[in-house]
Amino acid sequence: MIIQPKFRGFICTTAHPTGCAKQVQEQIDYVKSQKPIQGPKKALVIGASTGYGLASRIALTFGAGADTIGVFFEKPGSEKRTATAGWYNTAAFEKAATEAGYVAKSINGDAFSNEIKQETIDLIKKEFGKVDIVVYSLAAPRRVHPDTGEVFSSVLKPIGQAYTNKTVDFHTGKVSEVTLEPATEEEIRHTVAVMGGEDWKMWIDALEEAGVLADGVITLAYSYIGPKITHPVYREGTVGRAKDHLEATAHELDAQLKKLNGRAFVSVNKAVVTQSSSAIPVVPLYISLLFKVMKEKGLHEGCIEQMYRLFADRLYSGSSVEVDEAGRIRVDDLEMREDVQEEVLALWNQVDSESLKSISDLEGYRTDFFQLFGFETDGVDYEADVNPDVKIPSLN
Ligand code: NAD
Repeated sequence: MIIQPKFRGFICTTAHPTGCAKQVQEQIDYVKSQKPIQGPKKALVIGASTGYGLASRIALTFGAGADTIGVFFEKPGSEKRTATAGWYNTAAFEKAATEAGYVAKSINGDAFSNEIKQETIDLIKKEFGKVDIVVYSLAAPRRVHPDTGEVFSSVLKPIGQAYTNKTVDFHTGKVSEVTLEPATEEEIRHTVAVMGGEDWKMWIDALEEAGVLADGVITLAYSYIGPKITHPVYREGTVGRAKDHLEATAHELDAQLKKLNGRAFVSVNKAVVTQSSSAIPVVPLYISLLFKVMKEKGLHEGCIEQMYRLFADRLYSGSSVEVDEAGRIRVDDLEMREDVQEEVLALWNQVDSESLKSISDLEGYRTDFFQLFGFETDGVDYEADVNPDVKIPSLN
């Protein structure tokens, strides 16, 4: 099959196996070019197939030499249909990790469910005995509560009042104004239930009860803060409420894990192009301007640079873990630097459809977006016939 990108809204409904494999290999090569990390040897990554979770898994294996179990929700391909990108990423990751002598096992299913938690516990017992780190990197639009069956859907809305700002359609390069109506109390409750810390705590409770957390275990979840211009739609909006809950959960888990000499942290990561971040109004335009400024200053980072830095310089640096006044690890330090933010804001105030091309890195944004699905990757022959039905070794 010849595989081309196909779009439905901001979602690309096809993915290219060779391109995804190449993207994964580039991340592996990056980590291998850096100093080794004196880190954990047995890792569980929940949300391991794309974005920050995939980069965490790669950094832990190829940086710290960790065996991993990855949990995710992806669709396999068939002879006629492509798999989702995370499926191809995982197939490529497992192959590379196994060839390098590491254990890499995967579980595909709904991480919010009790069944997948139990399956993961059984696999940890069988393969590892215990895990040294649990990375929680889920980004999902919906969650079925495992005990009550209630279905929650998350929304990206401001709270209290409507919010109007610029946004971009990155396919056409058109900058327009978008107005987002405020969320209802029910929508806030739903978003917190999907993206807050309840499920993270359910995972840690289940893992602890099953006795599969090693002494000194670390658990980690990811958050975002960002600049004032995106606060109404992000940090002070519905998702921000969920992040407040996630961050509060980190404190709870940190206390809970004391008996195992363990720690729980939230790491605040920088804005990058992922399937999740491209769904947020306003944010892609901000990211296009941010990339321009950070690239010019030689500060640009993607998921893998961020996750390598998180593990090498923050969590496993050998000294105590540096946190901000709210107890969070900050690897968004370069994004939030005053000079960077001042320049981004100046560009934000002047950006329109006419100036977009010259003052933003929309091209970089677009390329990153296509590359999430294995497209626009150097060295891949997109005219070649490829079999979309790629197997993930451990799921066979
Ligand atoms: P992503 O969409 O790339 O990855 C989401 C992962 O969750 C995938 O592996 C997917 O398979 C998995 N997943 C989704 N629903 C699932 C389910 N029901 N069961 C099992 N797995 C499921 O997202 P991302 O942008 O890497 O986000 C990961 C975390 O990082 C989120 O907490 C996000 O808020 C945070 N973060 C993202 C950014 C950014 O700019 N993208 C910045 C800072 C923090």
